[in-house]
Amino acid sequence: MAVTETVRPQPASSVGAWDREADVVVAGFGTAGSAAAAEAAAKGAEVLVLERTSGWESAAGALAGGLIYMGGGTAIQKACGFDDTPEHMFTFLMAAMGPGVDEDRCRVYCEESVDHFDWLVRCGVPFKPSFWEAPAWEPPLDDGLMYSGGENAWPFNELVPPAPRAHVPQMNDKKTGTRGGGWMLMKALTSTALAAGAEVRYDTSVERLVVDGDGSVVGVIARSYGERVALRARKGVVLATGSFTYSDRLLANHTPWLIGRPGSAVEAHDGRSILMAQAVGGDVRHMDAYECALGVDPQLLVRGILVNRQGQRFINEDTYPGRIAHAVLRTQENDAFLVIDEESYEASPEPLRLRMLKLRPKWAAAAPAELEADMGLPGGTLQATISVFNRHAEAGQDPVFHKASKWVRPLTGALGAIDLRGMSNGFTLGGLATTVDSEVRHVDGDPIPGLYAAGRASNGIPAWGYASGTSLGDSTFFGRRAGRAAARSS
Ligand SMILES: Cc1cc2nc3c(=O)[nH]c(=O)nc-3n(C[C@H](O)[C@H](O)[C@H](O)COP(=O)(O)OP(=O)(O)OC[C@H]3O[C@@H](n4cnc5c(N)ncnc54)[C@H](O)[C@@H]3O)c2cc1C
Repeated sequence: MAVTETVRPQPASSVGAWDREADVVVAGFGTAGSAAAAEAAAKGAEVLVLERTSGWESAAGALAGGLIYMGGGTAIQKACGFDDTPEHMFTFLMAAMGPGVDEDRCRVYCEESVDHFDWLVRCGVPFKPSFWEAPAWEPPLDDGLMYSGGENAWPFNELVPPAPRAHVPQMNDKKTGTRGGGWMLMKALTSTALAAGAEVRYDTSVERLVVDGDGSVVGVIARSYGERVALRARKGVVLATGSFTYSDRLLANHTPWLIGRPGSAVEAHDGRSILMAQAVGGDVRHMDAYECALGVDPQLLVRGILVNRQGQRFINEDTYPGRIAHAVLRTQENDAFLVIDEESYEASPEPLRLRMLKLRPKWAAAAPAELEADMGLPGGTLQATISVFNRHAEAGQDPVFHKASKWVRPLTGALGAIDLRGMSNGFTLGGLATTVDSEVRHVDGDPIPGLYAAGRASNGIPAWGYASGTSLGDSTFFGRRAGRAAARSS
């Protein structure tokens, strides 16, 4: 039968013979899909997973650094000497992931976070009880815990006592983007799903939903080696196919800032699940939101001052570097420069092992006026910024952006400026609107019977803001809930 490009649902009455049946059909054997399959199978459901590529190792989760956002008092947090509570975690996430965080889902995410950590450990994810203290995108060695959302920097450090919550699977000689902490997570989750009895069909791409006369989702149409297959789901379909970072059409419609700037995603993230669910009335949330990163070592960022093309600072340089990247892209049109003096540049350690760059200055000068002219900034702007910064830095203070005093010292002597223009990139955070049990909501607010979503196909915990680890965190957390809910539905 011909392969169809449409995302419109197919009526069950027109399917004819089903090629295969299962209780729960999961689209995507990545981060959320493997967690959903593991839990649904553990609840006794017959689970069929359909994965478009030839193996789980091409999922974004398998390429990821592996930071998983969990807290509220996990064993690793306790072993590293940090006090945390679900309430503090909730307060932080409501502020840092917003505006527009779904309060109910955020609350359950925080209240059950310790349980989620324990489940990952039971699945075989190894975590080393050691804390990586220095600014970083991820721990360069095999440490298991770090700050990843600006919890210990202004403004969030004034909200609740800071606690690090990025938990990182232990791995030596990590190569993020190929095999790192995310691979360790995925290896454990996929093994758990398979051991629980889930069946996986690779090279099978889900293309359409199948709906009953009452609007319930009862299966999917997929394509496998060019053939169309109809697969019935007796209890539910879980959409776990990732973000829409690689759909230029969806980016143009919702997230134009990311056009031409995909990062930390894979090409299979084409947003098709979102469209398939929209075609049966599914609602979406925060389609304009995105995660952001920029390829500079945070050890450099904290030691310099970030300025825009007006020569002005716009953020505290010691906050979560993803928050910086977001500000660069969204508020500075992806233009930024890091101004640093020679002493601070030399004090910034060479990155350990990870392929993080210690970028070299593009411009160097003996004094601010000369640097400003070389950079082509309006006369006096950078000079004024450095003058104000240095005036307060003499006392170890930054009253303008509240950088922590341990990173504040006057910029003196030879200066350099690192060119960060055009560097921010990222992945989309918006997606299907779901309940606490990962049921996809119809635009009228009620769940669509038989349809679940998790991971970046849905809008998870991050609404507008982001902290590293919340994607793997909410993908696995709400993937599990999707699997459990689908397995128990009648
Ligand atoms: C280099 C890198 C570093 C990262 N670091 C981190 C980090 O440290 N912490 C963090 O939280 N996040 C990180 N991320 C982001 C994170 O990995 C993803 O956002 C997260 O894994 C998304 O989970 P998911 O289940 O939605 O997607 P995935 O894990 O990508 O799974 C989706 C699966 O669905 C399959 N699929 C797609 N379309 C179809 C279809 N039509 N039919 C069937 N199957 C389909 C895909 O092939 C894929 O296997 C990183 C990502 C990358 C690439």
